Amino acid sequence: MKGAGRPVWDDETSPADLEALDPPPPDEPPRTPDVLVVGGGIIGLSIAAACTSRGMRVVVVERERLAGGASGRAAGGLAPDAHPQAGPIWHTFARRSLQLHLAQDDYAVETLDLRVAPDAIVRDQARVNPLEMAAALARRAGVISTHAEDIDAFSAGVTVYATGAERTSHVVKGHLIATSPAALRMGEIVSSADAGFLAIQLPSGRIVCGGTKEPDDTDARVIGSTVDRVRTKLVELVPQASDLDVTHTWTCFRPKTSDELPIIDRADDGSFIVTGFYSTGILMAPVAGELVADALEGAELPAAFSAKRFR
Ligand SMILES: Cc1cc2nc3c(=O)[nH]c(=O)nc-3n(C[C@H](O)[C@H](O)[C@H](O)COP(=O)(O)OP(=O)(O)OC[C@H]3O[C@@H](n4cnc5c(N)ncnc54)[C@H](O)[C@@H]3O)c2cc1C
Repeated sequence: MKGAGRPVWDDETSPADLEALDPPPPDEPPRTPDVLVVGGGIIGLSIAAACTSRGMRVVVVERERLAGGASGRAAGGLAPDAHPQAGPIWHTFARRSLQLHLAQDDYAVETLDLRVAPDAIVRDQARVNPLEMAAALARRAGVISTHAEDIDAFSAGVTVYATGAERTSHVVKGHLIATSPAALRMGEIVSSADAGFLAIQLPSGRIVCGGTKEPDDTDARVIGSTVDRVRTKLVELVPQASDLDVTHTWTCFRPKTSDELPIIDRADDGSFIVTGFYSTGILMAPVAGELVADALEGAELPAAFSAKRFR
């Protein structure tokens, strides 16, 4: 479930980073890695980077380009304090994840306040370019094999399935738009009162706005009337944006579980399943990587994210 339309990130990311997301095939990938990560979205890449940093030999197998699905099409908001419905345990991990984002130095994280319309201020949230983040992770993720799906060729110590929507019970389509560069400086992320819509300005001046929640539509196409709705919302949230052109419109699918919390679990055969990050996978990727790497070194995984909660 990839989505359709051209995300703004394709035009906001350097050629070197875009190249890192679609590397040439490795000469001969090691057939017996310690860790085989299936899925090169933001979650798989973060797990691969965390395991590589602990000295494990890692191979990532991605059937398309890295971050070609939801991960390269998200809004890039990192807002641990904007999801009260997710509960206190989730919040603790989300805060830890933002700390990990801020502690690295190979992709830019911009710290910003979030204004929930009309005027509630949530301090110290942040934003990233998800493709720049994915490229940085890819450079530290071990051996990467893109446009590849055959995992039978590997005999790995452990396999981690980070295949996004492929392993969740639901997907929820969303539309996003981006505008031409604006002279105005928003200086904060703005969200609607119900947190359903977010407007984020990029360093280039463009404003990204979205994302709708369309659980009943599994057709990836961009719908004109929905784009108009997002644009209207943008002007409500940022009135000075009324004269900006919409230059990018695109869709993607959130991987969703019934309670909207992720699954980070180990199956009976020893493999890991790490998915279901719904609308916060870019935020939560660093902590997901840390939790899986810790578990491979013997730590317990948090029960709150166990797949057993659905049985
Ligand atoms: C409109 C919208 C806005 C969003 N905004 C934000 C935001 O502002 N902040 C935030 O934190 N999150 C946001 N999200 C959520 C975020 O996009 C997701 O939570 C995150 O991208 C999920 O990452 P993932 O790696 O699990 O999945 P994916 O990105 O889907 O990656 C899974 C990868 O696995 C590959 N794959 C699947 N099966 C196989 C196989 N058999 N073999 C090999 N490869 C395989 C796929 O090709 C894909 O590349 C948003 C989502 C939407 C839809």
